[in-house]
Amino acid sequence: MDDKNRQDVLSLLPDELRDRLRDHFTRRDQPAYRVDQTVGWIYGAGPSGFHAMTNLPAAEREALEANFRFQEPEVARISKARDGTAKFLWRLTGGELVESVLIPSRSRLTLCISSQAGCAMGCTFCATGWAGFDRQLTAGEIVAQYRATLRWAADEAYGPITNVVYMGMGEPLANRKAVHPSLTILNQGFELGARRITVSTVGVVPGILELADRPEQFELALSLHAPEPELRAQLIPLEQRYPLPSLMEALKTYQARGGRRITFEYTMIRDVNDAPELAVTLADLAREIRAFVNLIPFNPIPFQDWRPSSDQRIEEFRRILERAGVSVQVRTPRGREIEAACGQLRADAEAGLR
Ligand code: SAH
Ligand code: SF4
Repeated sequence: MDDKNRQDVLSLLPDELRDRLRDHFTRRDQPAYRVDQTVGWIYGAGPSGFHAMTNLPAAEREALEANFRFQEPEVARISKARDGTAKFLWRLTGGELVESVLIPSRSRLTLCISSQAGCAMGCTFCATGWAGFDRQLTAGEIVAQYRATLRWAADEAYGPITNVVYMGMGEPLANRKAVHPSLTILNQGFELGARRITVSTVGVVPGILELADRPEQFELALSLHAPEPELRAQLIPLEQRYPLPSLMEALKTYQARGGRRITFEYTMIRDVNDAPELAVTLADLAREIRAFVNLIPFNPIPFQDWRPSSDQRIEEFRRILERAGVSVQVRTPRGREIEAACGQLRADAEAGLR
């Protein structure tokens, strides 16, 4: 059977996976516990592919291999920074490149994953935005970034991955068909708590409302970057489609359903969005929904001569927010020398590999 006819096990919801495997093993007159064995392997950190499952008879391994696809993307490159941050460049089946970044900190090991190859949103401060859109990832391709990195992290003594953020390449809420199942698979299959999974969006209102309808408590980060519609539209073309007031309404709905705290991401670009007056407006918005604010120094990208705000300006911003009663933190860039920052990813990768 060719690849298209084999069901991708990492794209299936855990319940669907069990059903398919039950049918498969029943047809082959195998005991019911084969389902648990196989599911346990798929949602574990062992090598992908059924051939590695030595707890199954050889004939069963082959039958699984013939009927199901169980594959992680090929590793094109792994780079490691001095601070421990590791960047993974994956080559998908069509040759497209996407990235994940593993970020160790004192108490957490966070994995940043991609949801699309490229991005169609065209944000002017983002390297992925400039590079354009290639294609949607499947749920399996999203989940496989986690699965493959889990094994690497165990082998390299990083320990278990504690948090996953959808902040790599792509706009997750523009690929809801794959992102929704991927959330379920990480949560129910790999048993990663919903509160340890963060979806970051540039503001796709229908996607935020869909997420609000889910019973799980996934974390939501909103890439705000400007507290006023005109300025925001210069940075984020999607602002024209879903203007700030409608976005705030959607965020209120999200909160009303689950009471989860929303994070505002605010990338600080020198002389573009760092005037102290903007911090006052930002504080008003944050207070409206009790959002937490992350201030991130802009990471320079090709095609743009913008610079990060000065440390002094960032500190001033932080202080204004704090005085207004807003919880705020300045996020220090990690893995600078390997260009591990989100949004930095593909420009560098393509220059180096093609
Ligand atoms: N598309 C989603 C998630 C991926 S981008 C979103 O936009 O939220 C992940 C984060 O990196 C976003 O907060 C984005 O605004 C930020 N980012 C993109 N380019 C950046 C840059 N050059 N410097 C700093 N942050 C950047
Ligand atoms: Fe896409 Fe997010 Fe980059 Fe905007 S910031 S272009 S939404 S990846």
